[in-house]
Amino acid sequence: MVLRVFRWAPGGAERYQEYPVTPRAGMTVLDALVEIQRGSDPTLAFRYACRVGMCGSCALVIDGRERWACRTLLAPLRRSLVTVRPLYHFPLIRDLVVDQEPFSRKMLAAGATFAPAEGLAAFAAVGRDTAERRRVDAAIECIGCGMCVSACTLVAHDERFPGPAALNRAFTLQLDSRDGGHAERGTRLRSEDALARCHGQAGCTAVCPMEISPTDSILRLRRRAILALF
Ligand code: SF4
Repeated sequence: MVLRVFRWAPGGAERYQEYPVTPRAGMTVLDALVEIQRGSDPTLAFRYACRVGMCGSCALVIDGRERWACRTLLAPLRRSLVTVRPLYHFPLIRDLVVDQEPFSRKMLAAGATFAPAEGLAAFAAVGRDTAERRRVDAAIECIGCGMCVSACTLVAHDERFPGPAALNRAFTLQLDSRDGGHAERGTRLRSEDALARCHGQAGCTAVCPMEISPTDSILRLRRRAILALF
């Protein structure tokens, strides 16, 4: 098997470099990258942390689809040539490593951060069996991997569009009774470049490794926005 890997360093040209790999049982794309870096090419740059499918820092585009490298086995890809490239819609740092700054910037721009309501108890919990919690259950496990942003064609089209992760987070906050930022965030969400921009093609939902549907969160926010008008 050959791994065809995207390469780029500041000042250079983008290119792909091919590395032969001998897949072993249970070998992941991340295992292969580590093996290449420790063996034939110590200059190859990529990012990872937990290696066990929890942190999302090894998110890449593998054979045309966003996936985490540490959970993508080589064998089931059933190809003699596997292409690996960095996430789309993020600035490149080097090779497979991207700058996640736009991710947090868009979170802030969309108001997708917790704004404590006044008078909250020090440990204001939402019980796991409450209706309030169940309403957002499907949307809260975001690990911030950025795969949904990479898969979203609208992110490339409109710089001001917050993107699926930020809108998904905003959805959980708009339904959180501890949050005091509903009104201000609602105004941002109803602006021209936020909820209304989503084309609903669900590219984000198709790739989310946590099986979150940002598309569904956006639709539910839209429904709330429309109901608020009447
Ligand atoms: S919503 Fe899913 S794909 Fe998007 S950042 Fe969160 S975990 Fe990653």
